[in-house]
Amino acid sequence: MAPKRVEDFAALLERYGKRRHPLEYSSRYQLIVMVILSARDSDRHINALAPRLFAAYPDIAALAAAREGDLIGIVGETTNGAAKAQWLIKLAKIAGTDDALPRRMEDLLELPGIGRKSANVVIRESGDEAEGIVVDLHVVRTAPRIGLAAGTRPESIEKKLMEFFPRNRWNEAGMALSFLGREICRPSYPKCDVCPVASVCDEANKLK
Ligand code: SF4
Repeated sequence: MAPKRVEDFAALLERYGKRRHPLEYSSRYQLIVMVILSARDSDRHINALAPRLFAAYPDIAALAAAREGDLIGIVGETTNGAAKAQWLIKLAKIAGTDDALPRRMEDLLELPGIGRKSANVVIRESGDEAEGIVVDLHVVRTAPRIGLAAGTRPESIEKKLMEFFPRNRWNEAGMALSFLGREICRPSYPKCDVCPVASVCDEANKLK
């Protein structure tokens, strides 16, 4: 198979690159809180509890003053919910105000509950300059299937993707591969016949 070129992914980036993340946030404060809550949980679950959460804690100052037991009453059913409640209160106390929430990768990683994937999502959704590429569980499936990366370690997959895509497409590339996995390249039944990258996909080539 010929080496892959960024141009081969034009249709994919066009289709999904700028699509908003499925988390239904309406501010950076809400975005960061929801990204933390969504770790190892579903976006749908977090969207469902968000109205109650943000009615009780409309901004970071309110969250900083939260009683842990009350917060657990709202987020406790998320995966690892008790720890997430502690992280959120700690994060709110560190930041102090919504405007003080960090924007750069280095500073986001200092916050409790935020790893590279979450930081990349926050940077992308905030419209800030990319410092990496979102690698969620969908990208861990799609990138190796296509042949853009190998293995299952998010860090090494992200590194490969950062080498392949030009920096000005990083914010688009990760979520495009994620949406591809959510809608088309499903775990058991990939819909290769309607896939925008089928012509350059290693897995599709093997199945022929
Ligand atoms: S061609 Fe098939 S296996 Fe390859 S990315 Fe598309 S849906 Fe997945």
